[in-house]
Amino acid sequence: MKVDWVVIGAGFTGATLAERLASQLDQKVLVIEKRDHIGGNSYDCYDKEGILIHKYGSHTFHTNSAMVWNYLSQFTEWRPYFHHVLVVVDGKKVPVPFNLNSIYTLFPKKYAEKLEELLIQHFGFGVKVPILKLREKASGDLSFLAEYIYQKVFYRYTLKHWELKPEELDASVTARVPVYISRDNRYFQDIFQGIPMPSYTALFSRMLNHPNIKLLLNTDYREVIDEIKFKRMIYTGPIDAFFDYRHGLLPYRSLYFDFVTKNQEYFQEAGTINYPNDYEFTRILEQKHLTGQISPKTTITFVYPQQYNPGKTDPYYPIPRAENRQLYNLYLKEAEQIKDRVLFAGWLADYKYYNMDQAVARALTLFKEIAEKRV
Ligand code: FAD
Ligand code: UDP
Repeated sequence: MKVDWVVIGAGFTGATLAERLASQLDQKVLVIEKRDHIGGNSYDCYDKEGILIHKYGSHTFHTNSAMVWNYLSQFTEWRPYFHHVLVVVDGKKVPVPFNLNSIYTLFPKKYAEKLEELLIQHFGFGVKVPILKLREKASGDLSFLAEYIYQKVFYRYTLKHWELKPEELDASVTARVPVYISRDNRYFQDIFQGIPMPSYTALFSRMLNHPNIKLLLNTDYREVIDEIKFKRMIYTGPIDAFFDYRHGLLPYRSLYFDFVTKNQEYFQEAGTINYPNDYEFTRILEQKHLTGQISPKTTITFVYPQQYNPGKTDPYYPIPRAENRQLYNLYLKEAEQIKDRVLFAGWLADYKYYNMDQAVARALTLFKEIAEKRV
């Protein structure tokens, strides 16, 4: 087989690059995907009860980039959807990002009013304050509040999810879910938010449905690469695996998803409920909130963090911390030496905790560099 490009991985990064190369530069592209489906971690499908599930955990699309939104809108309609997440604290379910509504639910009214006043005085209304910053800056009653949120919302959740304490990770990780001095219960405030309709997988099929694109599923690229003639490769898998782990294993975090179908229309009040302090799972997801599917049944997902073991469990999150970035930089150096032949992109290959829109933006930027012959 002879093609211009081989793209390894059919997630948002691989699909975007394959689509752009095929449609804009008239390149012949072969996409090779290890799993038996397209879509990477954003894949969705119907389970045996007919419920549309997200196989790798709920995916909510949100972005402030009109470029990314408009690009993807060529391949999908959107269901308007604002994600809401609750966290179980002291037996109550309160909004997270932890906000003024959370405070009023958990504390007596008079004290909540005092905390609200102090927060607005120190930081301003509508401001997002990362928990590690709140802990550092707070004094008096705000210090009590910071400690309360740190202990009850972040500490055990982070230990479960990462096997690390919040301060052992880059501050950007817990800053994804800042304390929000507001009454806005939405998880994200991005300008563009929604769920692809009819599904993520339909979006991916449309992206890859081009006469210049061939797709090989169920195939680790290593099994076939010697039989393919190609000019260049784009690799979106884990970068350490590409180099046979020669500098050692780059840590990723894995998850195990337990799907349970219930004979009831809805199981819980929101798409995601977090359980920092109880159970071994971190979250229960209910994707019907996202998809709006009408059915007398619902399928929920228990999310259990687990260790990543190459060949045994899937790599999901890169683990953002300085020592891991040092190790990644050794692989990046190797990657730079072969860039005429192989380009690396995606959250596993760049070792960056991208949201979907950031993966698409990264791919569109790389495509521009390719088109302008800058890489
Ligand atoms: P992936 O989707 O991981 O795709 C990489 C592909 O490469 C995979 O399909 C893999 O099988 C394939 N591959 C790897 N090695 C090989 C090989 N040797 N041969 C062939 N194929 C190979 N982002 C959001 O914006 N909103 C959310 O709500 C959200 N929720 C998330 C929830 C969970 C539980 C997880 C894990 C992630 C979530 N994300 C979310 C992040 C999102 O999944 C990523 O940003 C996105 O998947 C990155 O796309 P990618 O193409 O870089 O990687
Ligand atoms: N986090 C937490 N408690 C929560 C929600 C988030 O401790 O109730 C921390 C945890 O470290 C988590 C990080 O904030 O990994 C980012 O949360 P996010 O919801 O963005 O994680 P993702 O959806 O990407 O798994």
